[in-house]
Amino acid sequence: MNDTDKVLIEQLQAENSRLRTENDQFRLFEKISSEPIAVFDDQSSILWVNSAFLRIFRYQEAEIIGKSVSILMTAESRETAKTHIKNQSNKPYEAIMARSDGSMFPALVQGTNLTHQGKSIRVATCTDITVTKANQRELEQVLAELEIFFDNSMIAVLVLRGGRIIYRVNQRFADMLGYDSPNELQGKSIRVIHLSEKNFVEFGQRFYDSLTEKAAHNIEHQLKHKDGSAIWALSAGKAVDINYPPDLNKGVVWIIYDLTQRKETEQQLIELATIDSLTGANTRRQFMELGEREFTINQRHGRSLSLLMLDIDHFKAINDRYGHDVGDKSLCRFTSFCQESLRTEDILGRLGGEEFAIILQDTEIEQALHVAERIRNTVESSTRSASSDTPAITVSIGIATTKGENDLAATLKQADIYLYQAKEKGRNCIVFAPDKAL
Ligand code: GH3
Ligand code: MG
Ligand code: MG
Repeated sequence: MNDTDKVLIEQLQAENSRLRTENDQFRLFEKISSEPIAVFDDQSSILWVNSAFLRIFRYQEAEIIGKSVSILMTAESRETAKTHIKNQSNKPYEAIMARSDGSMFPALVQGTNLTHQGKSIRVATCTDITVTKANQRELEQVLAELEIFFDNSMIAVLVLRGGRIIYRVNQRFADMLGYDSPNELQGKSIRVIHLSEKNFVEFGQRFYDSLTEKAAHNIEHQLKHKDGSAIWALSAGKAVDINYPPDLNKGVVWIIYDLTQRKETEQQLIELATIDSLTGANTRRQFMELGEREFTINQRHGRSLSLLMLDIDHFKAINDRYGHDVGDKSLCRFTSFCQESLRTEDILGRLGGEEFAIILQDTEIEQALHVAERIRNTVESSTRSASSDTPAITVSIGIATTKGENDLAATLKQADIYLYQAKEKGRNCIVFAPDKAL
């Protein structure tokens, strides 16, 4: 054997060993890979496939080796595949694959170009994504349903993410706060819907931490409308993170109910019950409530308290002569005359028709007389003046004073007796003790 032969033998042995190693690697590759794999040449002729590939496409090895990869997919997918092959792209793409029996399945295909023994080949994996696709469709369906709930809900919904940033709101939420669309709010800090920086901080301190608790809280609070006004809301928040305690940075969903209308109605009802709609004086009910409170305080301290009962004289005749509307105007004007003579802490009530009462706390009879006389005089002189836009009226007044010995009912009764006496005496006068008139 000469040297040339030796070299040749060594080369052959090396080649043999390389082929054996490659073969072993291929077999190993074949064994460990559950992914369908195909190798094809630059003419798209199949050179090799693994058993997973044969299983999924339902081919025998002999049926497929040497065939074009194009038989493995639908016409439309073939075009996509061609583009990827032509561009030597290794980006994964979706394709509809065809089995030997004509049935089809969606797959994710990814090819890689390699050079093997000087030849250009392409290795492609083909993953069946039937289940993934079905799950995806199911998920899309659920998401579409959720979108419908979200967009058309009559309840406002606010989703926050890390750092109390508005991630999403629905149209109802935008409407509630006077914004045209959710886009106006999304991405902004939740600060924008709080009335002040102080409110924002306090709300966070009081309620944000409570979101880590299991039970959701209903919170009655105020939010800022786009025009700056305050609106009432009832909100319940829940952390998105299902772990306990939840990570609030992952998000918080707030369900918000607009309470503005309800609050307004409540306020209207309170006003209706407490403020006389014609004159603005306290209603009888409110006068009695406030009066009871004043008398309780008075009975504790034993200081003087005076109560005035006032009744407009011959008011029926005013109505009869000028009409009810003018009568109403007179009642309002009369109320103003009383209010002008009172301090803020004094209590004026319209007990009924043209009958009023006033409680003057810490007031001796002399001062009460002074107030009563001022009212009597103002009513008489102002309505009698030529420039008056209401008819001339006068008022009769009875005054009872107590130093804690009588309750509200007894004092009212006493003042009413004196009022009656004032009427008896000819009206337009004040009675404040038996047979003492002014
Ligand atoms: P007197 O001097 O004895 O008090 O005579 P009077 O006419 O004022 O007394 P009376 O109680 O007989 O009449 C009260 C009148 O007040 C009857 C009613 O027409 C009138 N009145 C009661 N409530 C209203 C009201 O809300 N608006 C108007 N315009 N009139 C009222
Ligand atoms: Mg009267
Ligand atoms: Mg009367």
